[in-house]
Amino acid sequence: MSNRRHHDLTRNTDVVIVGGGLAGLFCALKLAPRPVTVISVAPLGQGASTAWAQGGIAAAVAEGDSAEAHAADTIAVGAGLVDEAIALGLAQEASARVHDLLHYGVPFDRDLEGKLAVAREAAHSARRIVHVRGDMAGLAIISALIEAVRRTPSIRVIEGYAAEALLTEDGAVTGLQLRKAGDAAARPVTIASRAIVLATGGIGHLYAMTTNPAEASGLGLAMAARAGAVIADPEFVQFHPTAIMAGRDPAPLATEALRGEGATLINDKGERFMLARHPLAELAPRDIVARGVFAEIAAGHGVFLDARAALGAHFAKEFPTVHASCMAAGIDPATQPIPVAPAAHYHMGGVAVDARGRSSLRGLWAGGEVSSTGAHGANRLASNSLLEAVVYAARIAEDIEDHSIAAPARLPTAQAIPRYGTLPAQTEQSLRAMMTSHVGVIREREHLAEAVRSFAAIERDAGNIALRNMATTALLVATSAWVRRESRGAHFRSDYPVVEPRLAHRTMTSLAAAKDIAALLSERASVRTAQPMIA
Ligand SMILES: Cc1cc2nc3c(=O)[nH]c(=O)nc-3n(C[C@H](O)[C@H](O)[C@H](O)COP(=O)(O)OP(=O)(O)OC[C@H]3O[C@@H](n4cnc5c(N)ncnc54)[C@H](O)[C@@H]3O)c2cc1C
Repeated sequence: MSNRRHHDLTRNTDVVIVGGGLAGLFCALKLAPRPVTVISVAPLGQGASTAWAQGGIAAAVAEGDSAEAHAADTIAVGAGLVDEAIALGLAQEASARVHDLLHYGVPFDRDLEGKLAVAREAAHSARRIVHVRGDMAGLAIISALIEAVRRTPSIRVIEGYAAEALLTEDGAVTGLQLRKAGDAAARPVTIASRAIVLATGGIGHLYAMTTNPAEASGLGLAMAARAGAVIADPEFVQFHPTAIMAGRDPAPLATEALRGEGATLINDKGERFMLARHPLAELAPRDIVARGVFAEIAAGHGVFLDARAALGAHFAKEFPTVHASCMAAGIDPATQPIPVAPAAHYHMGGVAVDARGRSSLRGLWAGGEVSSTGAHGANRLASNSLLEAVVYAARIAEDIEDHSIAAPARLPTAQAIPRYGTLPAQTEQSLRAMMTSHVGVIREREHLAEAVRSFAAIERDAGNIALRNMATTALLVATSAWVRRESRGAHFRSDYPVVEPRLAHRTMTSLAAAKDIAALLSERASVRTAQPMIA
């Protein structure tokens, strides 16, 4: 689908934005009337985590709250790795970006006096979550932005094409390689551009148990890494403690706001096991709650979110999305506890960017979940991700405004792809299963090494480019998790269970570095297998 008719892809001066979630669409709107092409693998509104966000956007807009308090909460949850200036900047720009969203038509809830209504979420010291009809924030945001995009003639939207490679020359991007989604036999299409914004979302779908859509499988991060971009903090993956165990992939989410409203976590004996684990019990930081739930399940107990006393008959009205997911699974949350488990939910790591959203490659910006700004450190504070997406999308647009973008002299050459073939479902499944079992809530050296070797082999041998990209990102996550010999924030190592103060620095890595680690681990494994024979 396209808002503008005529276009010459070879002499393209458009800014190309890859991704149609909050980061991509907001950036496109902010760039108007500058010509922009938005590429989205799924039709707009689908295949984006944004549409599924339930809580809302963190913004210190309530009386008595402040950007400083918001930043302090962000820093406390981030376990020593948050870039404090970045966190403060994010909090300070929150109110302006929420007003931008109101301007684009997002119907945020208001209180009786007409002020923005704010909800409480875990680890926030104030009621600070701007929301829409209880748990409908994401859908309301994406719907309003899609309407605004369709009304904007400078934005051309290409839906149903998956970006698969960034094309570069001398450390600068020159174009993008795409392919019609779901058609492995289709020939790749090349778009020339010297200004590309990656807004492809997260990596949750690299895990077997996840709340993320299938499109969130780390392809954007892989493309940047393959083009040589610096990748930051890939080991930090947030697991949501309460995905609903309804036998669905992805797993529906029981939003944190339920616990904010008083729902409790109980095991199959009816015990509130979080009371013994943290003074804030169910409202402790996500990683602590996720490990609590994981440990209960590992000990053979069922875990349930119990909203009967806190919400009861009001459940359907207050949390319609969660209510619908439960009812579809045959659970009435007003009268029954909801079975839950932790699931990969949010990636703190991503393409390393500076305060303007620039990556280490000339002409490549990254915004939203695919990026790593330093705002989240080792753990994200709830509802800071939509905020980060919207703040950085605006900053990227502003930065690009100051650039004049020359048309590339010629169409860049498509990347050599090993072999074309359909995505082998079994390899994909085993990769996802291994991410959950070996690179998940609780990690350990030998399992991580095994995962690294396995992902490196897939990355090397895959005949399908999507699989190769998935393995690239999985490899970056697993190698960095193997390297970080401590437990910090969302990264927990059973063999190094405490925080190591001397490791209080962010990870900055690359695909080349990850491959070196994989080679080392493969070498060690072959020496170990060879040793008994030598002896
Ligand atoms: C269930 C759920 C609930 C959440 N609740 C909240 C919340 O309440 N508050 C909060 O702050 N955060 C929440 N989050 C996190 C938040 O939704 C995301 O971090 C945020 O929406 C990311 O926005 P984005 O624009 O970066 O990515 P997305 O919204 O995921 O959009 C990515 C886009 O890129 C496209 N894409 C991906 N790969 C390719 C490719 N190779 N080629 C072309 N297009 C591609 C996708 O189709 C999509 O259009 C939640 C996440 C989930 C999954």
